[in-house]
Amino acid sequence: MRAVIYDRALEPEAREVPDPEPGPGEVLIKVAQAGFCGTDLHLHTGGFDARFPLIPGHEGVGTVVGLGAGTTGFDVGQQVVVNPNAYCGHCAYCRAGDLVRCENLLAVGVNRDGMFAELVSVPAGQVFDADGLDPDVAVLAEPASCAMHGLERLRPRPGSSALVFGAGPTGSLLAQMMASGGVAHVSVADPSAAKLETVRGLGIDQTLPIEMITEANAASVVERLRAASPTGTGYDVVVEATGSATVGNLGVPLLRNGGTLLVYGVASEQARLSVAPYELFRRELTVMGSFAEMTSFAAALAALRTGRVRTQGLITHRFGLDDYAGAIEAARHDRTAHKIVIVP
Ligand SMILES: [Zn+2]
Ligand SMILES: [Zn+2]
Repeated sequence: MRAVIYDRALEPEAREVPDPEPGPGEVLIKVAQAGFCGTDLHLHTGGFDARFPLIPGHEGVGTVVGLGAGTTGFDVGQQVVVNPNAYCGHCAYCRAGDLVRCENLLAVGVNRDGMFAELVSVPAGQVFDADGLDPDVAVLAEPASCAMHGLERLRPRPGSSALVFGAGPTGSLLAQMMASGGVAHVSVADPSAAKLETVRGLGIDQTLPIEMITEANAASVVERLRAASPTGTGYDVVVEATGSATVGNLGVPLLRNGGTLLVYGVASEQARLSVAPYELFRRELTVMGSFAEMTSFAAALAALRTGRVRTQGLITHRFGLDDYAGAIEAARHDRTAHKIVIVP
């Protein structure tokens, strides 16, 4: 089969590799398409627990073409999506049922071969039925699952207000999840007019154009965004979905008393947030993170099937395996790129 493969960081190559064989309990899937995201950019530079050689791609939809020995519950020809994340089952967290915090996470497309390939073989427990779902919707099941986990972490108070920094695919999905999860008013802020236009089409209550955040303009942006909140005093929830600490530093000043800042974007490991402990104490604020997901796939698929979470307009770019460098280039530099999809 043809696949994008890294023998080492920074050097992806599309080439012929042996077809994977479905092992016992595994499902062999012909990949229809797979989403490209910020994680793939981190893997490109060798970050994020990447294990080489590696075929990346962790957001795939495809069709079952084979079953390993003893595999049940799936039929050849069935459309499926893959939850890339697996837990070890024997670390202290797993034994306590806290699966997403597993110390030995295995992820398809991160530290085991993924879906920027014509074929992939994965354990049946990580495969979910997606029959009847538009492949352009199903390909967003993984980011939607991560957004569902973000909502599960937040458990926002009914009637609260929320501001999401970042109108990318994950920010757009989490904004909708919060709206259906009880948040009464959801705003999304982003420098890209095109992305805000897409988000408006997904039913977000308020879109707020902002310039790129710098230390020089941060205070005036905070003032403007606070004034735009439903109460004029800030937001009960602020989500940092850009991966920028400069943006993250706007979070606490924009929270109402008792509010929560959710760190949802993937920042560099060296980045630092600046938070006044007195403010956390006096205003009873919470700063929390949301990383990946383990058990949110079925809920996310249900929300995609009902249309509670919508995806219209999110996919803007498609690349073949042989133009993987083009996908990386678009993800890094093309301001019109929203969701990029790789089509084997
Ligand atoms: Zn991803
Ligand atoms: Zn574990």
